[in-house]
Amino acid sequence: MEVSRHWRLRQQRYSLVGEVCPHCQVKIFPPRDVCPDCGQEARTAYAFSGRGEVYSFTTVYTPPAGYEETAPYTVALVRLAEGPLVTAQLTDLGDQAVEIGMPVEMVTRRLRSDGERGMLVYGYKFRPLLAA
Ligand SMILES: [Zn+2]
Repeated sequence: MEVSRHWRLRQQRYSLVGEVCPHCQVKIFPPRDVCPDCGQEARTAYAFSGRGEVYSFTTVYTPPAGYEETAPYTVALVRLAEGPLVTAQLTDLGDQAVEIGMPVEMVTRRLRSDGERGMLVYGYKFRPLLAA
């Protein structure tokens, strides 16, 4: 149980793995083992495409401890192509202005450095979808 949970958390860090409800097919992220729609058990892993669009966003000027080096940064609520909303930092914006409805895709990036232990913490962010 512990090992499987650990593995799942690791997987979550490098790709967007959630769950799909076997009863009503709703896609779930983050995984919570219970379908928010029908309330039944949902433990089937589902890998999201990592694509979505900006649903809303805000710029953070006063970050929590550990995130100072990247401030100011933009945090967005992203509506995934499969439906769920996820909150994540936007990256690789360059001089592009963020807009509601902007297409984005997930990338794995360094989130922050853990000063005390000198560890780097990685996770997912979203960047503007590169023109195909
Ligand atoms: Zn369901």
